[in-house]
Amino acid sequence: MIYIHVPFCHRKCTYCAFYSVRSSEFRVRSYVDALLREMEERKGEQAHPIRTVYFGGGTPSILPIDQLGRIVEGLHRCFDLSQVEEMTLEANPEDLNIDYLKGLRTLGFNRLSIGVQSLDDRVLRMLNRRHTAQQALDAVANAHAAGFENISVDFIYGLPDFSPFTFHLSPLVTHVSAYALTVEPGTALAVQVGQGRVVLPDDEEVVRQYHALHQQLEAAGFQQYEVSNYARPGFESKHNSRYWDRTPYLGLGPGAHSFDGRKRRWNNPDGTFGEETLNEADAYNELLMTSLRIVRGLPLAAIPEGQKERLHRLIQPYIACGWLTLSDYLSPTAEGLLHADGMAAALFAGS
Ligand code: SF4
Repeated sequence: MIYIHVPFCHRKCTYCAFYSVRSSEFRVRSYVDALLREMEERKGEQAHPIRTVYFGGGTPSILPIDQLGRIVEGLHRCFDLSQVEEMTLEANPEDLNIDYLKGLRTLGFNRLSIGVQSLDDRVLRMLNRRHTAQQALDAVANAHAAGFENISVDFIYGLPDFSPFTFHLSPLVTHVSAYALTVEPGTALAVQVGQGRVVLPDDEEVVRQYHALHQQLEAAGFQQYEVSNYARPGFESKHNSRYWDRTPYLGLGPGAHSFDGRKRRWNNPDGTFGEETLNEADAYNELLMTSLRIVRGLPLAAIPEGQKERLHRLIQPYIACGWLTLSDYLSPTAEGLLHADGMAAALFAGS
């Protein structure tokens, strides 16, 4: 699988700590030139069949169709895309007019991940998003009209003034990613919270919102398959599911990460890169961390022999308190998913 990182944003959302820069025609062209060079240099690294391609960011929908076309052409030149099943573009609602969407379909995109975040205009303004609730609704309708049948929307909960969550009722939406708002150091939100200008709900209220959201999504026909992800049957994200299975992937662009099954590499915005080779304990800990966030859980067959006895001993309290169940998989319960990261850390092997 291939990940393309697009580092541009129209402006900074208050909660965002990701690397991004403002776009200009010159910057976009230079970025695409550099990306095409990187593809040529690294095309030998992707030995596995490519089944998914994902454009993430940043805001990939900032890229005009002709520049996206250059990237897609480069991908076809450097890689065998004949087995690609899912090609996703992350997009912001305000970019999704019907001509642009038709252009995306022509380039081969068959899935959109739209950053809706909220359907409350006051909340959208507070987060410094550029779109309105109506633009988000229009974006979904336009996407469907342009031929997209696989439409994901991102939502944020844990916000002040949490209003009833109604978007999932649209039959056009096939997938929902719902993230709890976190206050990252160095963001505008951290300053606003520090000065008392924004007051966020306490942990208990955030958990209440999570449960309310969960119930509404299930009632609308969505199934949770990961702590933050819900899908209508058959519409789980193939790309993300492969990350969680630890399938190797090639990440291109500034800030992109790659994984070849043993080694992780990360590109730095200045054109340099870093890498680390995972030892057995690191690989096992990563497996725990991702598997306990998935509803299916950790396949027992994937646990290294040397870890089995220790893990069996350590999980007993979590089974007793109803956070984990054990069959052919070690699976988190609905309550356990809320504690997935803490549980995984407690089960980690020492390096
Ligand atoms: S659009 Fe996405 S990447 Fe860009 S600033 Fe907002 S949250 Fe961050």
